[in-house]
Amino acid sequence: MKFKTLSVHAGQRSDPSTGALATPVYFTSTFSYGTAEEGQARFAGQNPGYIYSRFANPTTAALEQKLAALEGADEALVVASGMAAVSAIMYALLDAGDEVAFIDPVYGGTDAFLRNTLTRAGISLSRYSSDQDFANRVKANTKLVLFEPVTNPTLKVIDPRIVVEAARKVGALVVCDNTFLTPYLSQPLALGADLVMHSGTKYLSGHGDIIAGVVAGRTELMQKVRTVALKHIGSPIGPQEAYLLQRGVKTLPLRMDAHCANARKVADFLAAHPAVAKVYYPGHSSHPGHQAVAETATGFGGMVAIELEGGFARCAKFLNQLQLFAQAVSLGDVESLACHPASTTHAAMTAADRERANVSDNLVRLSIGVEDADDLIADLAQALAAS
Ligand SMILES: *Cc1c(COP(=O)(O)O)cnc(C)c1O
Repeated sequence: MKFKTLSVHAGQRSDPSTGALATPVYFTSTFSYGTAEEGQARFAGQNPGYIYSRFANPTTAALEQKLAALEGADEALVVASGMAAVSAIMYALLDAGDEVAFIDPVYGGTDAFLRNTLTRAGISLSRYSSDQDFANRVKANTKLVLFEPVTNPTLKVIDPRIVVEAARKVGALVVCDNTFLTPYLSQPLALGADLVMHSGTKYLSGHGDIIAGVVAGRTELMQKVRTVALKHIGSPIGPQEAYLLQRGVKTLPLRMDAHCANARKVADFLAAHPAVAKVYYPGHSSHPGHQAVAETATGFGGMVAIELEGGFARCAKFLNQLQLFAQAVSLGDVESLACHPASTTHAAMTAADRERANVSDNLVRLSIGVEDADDLIADLAQALAAS
């Protein structure tokens, strides 16, 4: 079946006890197994059946089947947040003494976790400035490499094919955080990644109402990640959030088509506007990562960043004039969002690190929603004029 059909139907069946068609929300901590013998058999893994909602819950299980189908994975795991997904992957697959690589930039929370917390487990860390830098300098003892194909906030592109090829040479596992593109636009496992992960908070849920994380891949790796994530770290998603995430995923293709089409219109408008010094949008052929995204994904996503000359004061004026765009971090919601990374998401970085990441005081990041593009463009036009 095709992606749009799987988005709706995978993992979904009517409830055998009532016929309810929508996935029921199973609010329960524990599951009665009835007899001591059945309890023994379930704990021994001889009989299927639920035990305790930290290990597995039917609402979450239905969602995991849907996501596994969309990623082309043996298995998917849904956890409490994107950060829970990152940390579970690292703790499950790395040992003290291992070498882990990441390609700049990665999500700020991920960067901080790798540098400040993971290294305390005796794991050494190497950062690479680009896909090519990784290919040129990858250490022979690299156990795992983490990267994001389209990155925050300047939409710098890391080519999954280059990362996979270089990692294969040294036998490193490849973990792809595909939050910005989603499985609708690209499927990293098919490109050779070992695991794909997402902040489900963003496009997968799409409505800005939950926090969630997803990991998908082959059974051998997923069993390790699942055990660490749920049994050891203890970060299951709640059934209500699992329900909302599966509902969001049903319309992922429709929303992504709208995000992509709107982002293109907005980026074209901004590129032609005399007050906009620079536009970052991978759908433009002038963007250095354009070709890589065009060849590995079916769309360029819904994120656009711009530079306005005049630093914080100028950007604040512009942002404060926006009527439709909400000033907020996060991305991938049906509603459009705008933020000034240097004073918010990237404020904790040193000025030198911000410069290296190309996050100037002139930068504004836009998450383009699914509103009418004409209204979004009119809002941006009036805010630019007023600033
Ligand atoms: C938001 C985000 C995360 C972290 O996810 P949470 O759900 O906020 O924990 C990780 N990676 C990327 C690319 C993100 O955008």
